[in-house]
Amino acid sequence: MGALQKIFQESWEAFNARQQAERDQWLMRAIGELDEWYAKLGPVGQKFKSDFAATKCGEHIDLDIRARAALNTHHMTRGFLNTISYNRDVLDDARDLFSSRTHEGVHAIQYSQSAAAQATPYNCRVKIMLCPRDAILLQELKERDALSKQWLFDAMLDDHLALPDGSYQPQSLAMLEAALQNHARTILEKTNNFEGKTFLESYRDMTIRDYEGMMASRHQKEGDIIYVRLDPDDVIEIGHNLGLHSFGRNAAEAAEWMQSSPLTAVQEATLSAIHADLGLQSTAALPTLAEALQARGLTKAGFVAQSHAKPPESGPKPAPTPCL
Ligand SMILES: [Zn+2]
Repeated sequence: MGALQKIFQESWEAFNARQQAERDQWLMRAIGELDEWYAKLGPVGQKFKSDFAATKCGEHIDLDIRARAALNTHHMTRGFLNTISYNRDVLDDARDLFSSRTHEGVHAIQYSQSAAAQATPYNCRVKIMLCPRDAILLQELKERDALSKQWLFDAMLDDHLALPDGSYQPQSLAMLEAALQNHARTILEKTNNFEGKTFLESYRDMTIRDYEGMMASRHQKEGDIIYVRLDPDDVIEIGHNLGLHSFGRNAAEAAEWMQSSPLTAVQEATLSAIHADLGLQSTAALPTLAEALQARGLTKAGFVAQSHAKPPESGPKPAPTPCL
């Protein structure tokens, strides 16, 4: 803990006054120490380290973001960004950074593995995307998975730190998975203190707003977008990482997670209006993502690779104006 305490003794004033590259160096030192915690949390912690490293996700400090941390995913013009930004609050406490990093790291792993996570209006590399209703469901599932794994890792770390070094024994994977699934069922039903809504309602509002904004331009401009729905395999995939299944291991278990609670009347009305604008009758009438991919000779892995490919270079730059 000594090295870690020293890293977190930095003052805000000194931190703000530094250059961006120095702040990122600070972050890398802190993360290097935190990685030792993950390594001590048994097979699940070690899997986080290896699976997160495999995503090749970047991490840096961004003093301008409002959230404590955020994963930057698909960008309309810059393609797949795959970076986590942390704001200055990470200076407060090593365990908060551990907790935020676990949450965003799980999201990064979801985006590196799940085909459904690529089928979003922000992804300019593909024309297949989830219909609004299932985009909302996927957002909900991504958060249930990330928040419950964050909770699990925080609890494991508390146990580890409370015991003499080396004596922590992680529970079996089956016990961890049962606790995780219990938590995933209720974690979004808590009230979000900022707005007096549940987290679920806030996430749904945000997804509807974003979808509406993005599609207003993409649908009209492109015109050949294929709207799809989720199937139970997509649900299993989004919750299967770190060796743990948040949403079951078979279609019957996953189907239960697809029966989410009703939207509010306002959300339902907005969603119906978006569906009508897009010319969609009902979600049930759409092909699944797997069917749409198969019809185009694409595998899920191929779809993920296509989504992560760098955007084509823009044409040759004009010659600089000569200096006369
Ligand atoms: Zn999240």
